[in-house]
Amino acid sequence: MRIAVGGIHTECSTYSPVLMTVEDFRVLRGAELLKADYFSFLEADGVEHVSLLHARAVPGGPVSRGAYDAFKTEFLERLRAALPLDGLYLAMHGAIKVDGMDDAEGDWISAARAVVGPDCPIATSYDLHGNVSQKIIDQIDIFAGYRTAPHIDTRETMVRAWSMLVEALRTGTRPGVAWAPVPLLLPGECTSTEDEPARSLYRRLPDFDARPGILDANLMVGYVWADEPRATACAVVTGSDKAVASKAAEEIATSYWNERENFRFGPVTGPLEAMLDIAEETATRPVILADSGDNPTGGGVGDRADVLRALLARGWRDALISGIADRPAVDACFAAGEGTTLALRLGGSLDPSSPVAEVTATVVRLDDPGPLSERQAVIRVGQIEVVMSARRRPYHNIEDFRRLGLDPSTVRLLVVKSGYLSPELAPIANPNLMALTDGVVNQDIANLTSVRRQRPVFPFDRGFDFEPRARFSARWT
Ligand SMILES: [Zn+2]
Repeated sequence: MRIAVGGIHTECSTYSPVLMTVEDFRVLRGAELLKADYFSFLEADGVEHVSLLHARAVPGGPVSRGAYDAFKTEFLERLRAALPLDGLYLAMHGAIKVDGMDDAEGDWISAARAVVGPDCPIATSYDLHGNVSQKIIDQIDIFAGYRTAPHIDTRETMVRAWSMLVEALRTGTRPGVAWAPVPLLLPGECTSTEDEPARSLYRRLPDFDARPGILDANLMVGYVWADEPRATACAVVTGSDKAVASKAAEEIATSYWNERENFRFGPVTGPLEAMLDIAEETATRPVILADSGDNPTGGGVGDRADVLRALLARGWRDALISGIADRPAVDACFAAGEGTTLALRLGGSLDPSSPVAEVTATVVRLDDPGPLSERQAVIRVGQIEVVMSARRRPYHNIEDFRRLGLDPSTVRLLVVKSGYLSPELAPIANPNLMALTDGVVNQDIANLTSVRRQRPVFPFDRGFDFEPRARFSARWT
């Protein structure tokens, strides 16, 4: 049996003016893909895995058309060269926006279907923040989505999708997909599976899996910062029995809809100044403040200096800001050298509308792993330390700090560009506060500009009724 493997994986805020380019992606192709830890589960007796191309990027703005076309062209060339195939597994995120194109995953998966033909089953794995469309569902036979946010089941989800494909090929069966859209768009920060009501909703999914006729049941939160027609939450069920699968999809959709008024932010959340007031009164440490509107892992630009400005205005003592993406500032620090004091203009290096802080800074530490884009600089501004990165990136792991000689657990206030905290930072937060800061992933959802979304959709609209109706993949006959 020959199964080809590939895909494209990122999440794009349509509110961001900063387009992603080829350089923003980690690309796996050929033998490298099959050797990568990310795909190391691809091993089954009698199955030959054929590597195509897998491109993955930290979430951000829309992908440039040139970058998307380049990846798609290479992916399809490799797919054509891999024929004949028994199956295709696509590891997707689901929330790509390509500049000037709607439903990029629909485009990608349809193009793959056209190459492999109607008889080859296609399995996909998705992030639960992906946006699904009928066009996508019509091309696939198997679907599995993450069941945790923060995402700690990435690998398990990929294994679920791939295992269903292997099993279908071994048994000669052909699963199908039913889905039920829900007109509800909430940010991941309200729908973390660490908190109710999402926690219970997701814990019920294995009960659906156990029903005869169902292989895999999913609840997709969708991606709210995409102002495009397909943006939606939904239930997606892979099964062998259409009636059972459609009933399950409608039940999952109803359970999500019925909780719509009950989703809350997990940590204490509010405007930046109110959160800093609380932080000032707090004796325990570290207070970890999430700068949520500029969170790169949600699609934020990551170049904003709002929190730095607010802390400087307060004359704050003992804070660590990790980090601000600012290539020109990092380059200036490298040119100056460690121990030097210099004038820096911080912020707005990627999005010209991002706020800027003009500061006098001392270069504390320079980190040079090799490529210019990987450089980092730690500076001190008054009593505040700031980590600057040459590229957009999160600081979510303890090792990110340790590498720079920083200890996030002892600082009075740690500011991270994040929504819900990462699995490594959440346990040390004492306490965690979330600031409703401005940015292209602003958490004030009801007030986001909404021109292209299908309406009505909660919470943009309220007071409308909804009854879920399951639909099938065109392939499930
Ligand atoms: Zn996600």
